[in-house]
Amino acid sequence: MAEIKFEATKTFKEKPDVSSIGFGTHFSDYMFEMNYNREDGWHDPKIVPYHDISVSPANTTLHYGQAIFEGMKAFRQQDGKIVIFRTLDHLNRLNNSARLLDIPNVDINTVHQGLKKLIEIEKEWVPAKIGQSLYIRPFIFATDPYLGVSVSDTYKLLIILSPVAAYYAHGFAPVKIMVEDHYVRAVPGGLGEAKTPANYAASLHAGLVAHEKGYDQTLWLDGVERKYIEEVGSMNILFKIKGEIVTPSLCGSILGGITRKTVLAVAKEWGIPVSERRITIDEVCEAYKNGELDEVFGSGTAAVISPVGLLSYKGQDMIINEGKIGSFSQKMFDHITGLQSGLIKDTQGFIEGVTKI
Ligand SMILES: *Cc1c(COP(=O)(O)O)cnc(C)c1O
Repeated sequence: MAEIKFEATKTFKEKPDVSSIGFGTHFSDYMFEMNYNREDGWHDPKIVPYHDISVSPANTTLHYGQAIFEGMKAFRQQDGKIVIFRTLDHLNRLNNSARLLDIPNVDINTVHQGLKKLIEIEKEWVPAKIGQSLYIRPFIFATDPYLGVSVSDTYKLLIILSPVAAYYAHGFAPVKIMVEDHYVRAVPGGLGEAKTPANYAASLHAGLVAHEKGYDQTLWLDGVERKYIEEVGSMNILFKIKGEIVTPSLCGSILGGITRKTVLAVAKEWGIPVSERRITIDEVCEAYKNGELDEVFGSGTAAVISPVGLLSYKGQDMIINEGKIGSFSQKMFDHITGLQSGLIKDTQGFIEGVTKI
């Protein structure tokens, strides 16, 4: 493994009051950097002062979008220890996204050691209150200064850190969702399975339209028949129907969320039946009519669990669980956040310690 160099900063930023800042507005003093070219491969891993970067106006990412990213969190546990949630799952997914966009795979071990060293150096930036965290954003983008349409020969990987407030600053609350039957986010054979800016670009307009109509998020249907349920906003979606947890299977157009995987593992541990399969919007409407749709919720690193209180499809509103947070959603939210804060003992190896107490 290449040695990770360190370049000290001369100026330190003032740390913000995390409870009053939005998501991703403040960044720590350092970042991790590594570069790729064909001759040297990924080389020169280093921790450097956080700084603006300059790119050529012909930078291929700006024109053709060859880029990927990850999002994970570090927490300060009750006893002061700093941990990261499911680090290796996120780094392995980064390489899976890289494969789908023809970006050269990184050496997971180097990035893993670099990330841990970065968090260790920046430990003062990990906020202490329950629900607060240090958001970790690794990303890779093409850096060729060239307008020809081709796979880039050079890349940059950066990891930046941003302290974030508890997602539910005003309490854990259900959201209103519009089922999108016009726009689509991803198609089989496309990039839906990669964590890449393209999927976000494809979803912004529909998200804005849903907002204008008074909804918080869009529920995406499949891009071919507009029949099968895929994701909600940029989260995975899960249903509790007749006591069973049902979520769309990872069929190529859905991102394999780490939170989704955690929810399924914890539900299994609790002895609750789970099913990963294709599920149509008609099946959800039918279950609702029959009084069998107990709960609907999204899952993702930012919110952990996002309970859905209302689903609107073709002008019909379905009020889920009387618009209140379901007991399974609440229990799962408490459990996962409990593992992260250290209040609940981790029996499945989700938590990785960065610092000793
Ligand atoms: C990141 C992301 C998710 C959630 O994944 P987690 O690993 O749980 O944070 C779901 N869908 C999309 C499109 C995403 O980009």
